[in-house]
Amino acid sequence: MKIGVAKEIEMGERRVALIPDTVSRLVKQGIEVWIEAGAGEKAFFPDAAYAAAGATIVSDTAQLWGEADILLKVSPPRERENGQHETDLLHEGATLISFLDPLGSPALIKRLADRKVTALSIELIPRTSRAQSMDALSSQAGVAGYKATLIAAAALPKFFPMLTTAAGTIPPAKVFVIGAGVAGLQAIATARRLGAVVEAFDIRPAVKEEVQSLGAKFVEVKLEEETVAAGGYAKEVSEVAKQKTQAAIAEHVKLSDIVITTAQVPGRKAPQLVTADMLAQMKPGSVVVDMAAEQGGNCEGSEAGKDVVRNGVTIIGPTNLPSTMPVHASQMYAKNLLTLVQYLIKDGALALNFEDDIISSTCVAHAGEVRNQRVRDLLNEPVAVK
Ligand code: NAD
Repeated sequence: MKIGVAKEIEMGERRVALIPDTVSRLVKQGIEVWIEAGAGEKAFFPDAAYAAAGATIVSDTAQLWGEADILLKVSPPRERENGQHETDLLHEGATLISFLDPLGSPALIKRLADRKVTALSIELIPRTSRAQSMDALSSQAGVAGYKATLIAAAALPKFFPMLTTAAGTIPPAKVFVIGAGVAGLQAIATARRLGAVVEAFDIRPAVKEEVQSLGAKFVEVKLEEETVAAGGYAKEVSEVAKQKTQAAIAEHVKLSDIVITTAQVPGRKAPQLVTADMLAQMKPGSVVVDMAAEQGGNCEGSEAGKDVVRNGVTIIGPTNLPSTMPVHASQMYAKNLLTLVQYLIKDGALALNFEDDIISSTCVAHAGEVRNQRVRDLLNEPVAVK
């Protein structure tokens, strides 16, 4: 059994799929680990540390991809500078484990299936307690939420904490977090640690207690409809509920120094929650960090990868925040992958039991077939897969 770790080629991607500590654990289990030369460099894990952990450093990209039984990555495979697609480097029957953006890039999943590669999409790890230690969506969202607050604090022309000094008293900054999922809760916790007064809103009423336990105030909006879908995720709400929500949050946006938005509905465009009218009511110097900018944005006028200034309000649309903290983001991602790989390998060989919910929901391509029904629907492939 040979596990390969590729060097990421996605622009701006600094994470690596395994770190030396996780490599040594696999090596101890008798698994051969190949690391592409320089794979950990941008995350500050040098080749020498991987070699010391028992990995083989491989300089030839085609050899690494072509000979790995399981190839581990962070970003979905893409076309290389020489025009060759990374997918085409894998051998038939190989297994790829990575973020694959299956609903955003169904054609990639089809390509992997056509190549007869077994593909496991990390985004689809079920959000169950059994799979918690494999849940990279959560580990990376936590990193992103933390960093979003730091970005906001750095852009704010004010202090976060209350200060009583000889030069006068400084009131604490007011932070409003919209969307209290994994990223939002970490953004709240970080803002609280920095001394801000924090409020938060989410359409899932169940998060109220979690928000309060972090020392933040929960903004309640009574909606006359179910807002939670299967699996605990948010549902797309009706137009009436949307208007009611917007009216309720407008007051809180107006009084905030910082608004951090994290609202997402899986498989849908992010809901627009902060309007241009609300932005116009904010004090100049205020900051909005729209963590959903890449998914269409929660804030009107936000742009992914850009800082936009409207009436003195800075709207930041960060992209790939976990990659800006590559050491710990890689460490956590590597732990998620280690747990998954150890779960998949039985007696030194890959054992895929499709009766198992972790495997059946995560495996999107196997033996020439696209296995995920939603991906098949997007590809207009009629045959259902059990
Ligand atoms: P996400 O990134 O899909 O969404 C972020 C937040 O936005 C969610 O809390 C959602 O309710 C909220 N949101 C959506 N539409 C909104 C709107 N119109 N207005 C305000 N807020 C809106 O969510 P996530 O952080 O990946 O996780 C969400 C769910 O998954 C939660 O139930 C969480 O507890 C659950 N979860 C479970 C596990 C586990 O059991 N192992 C692990 C992680 C997450």
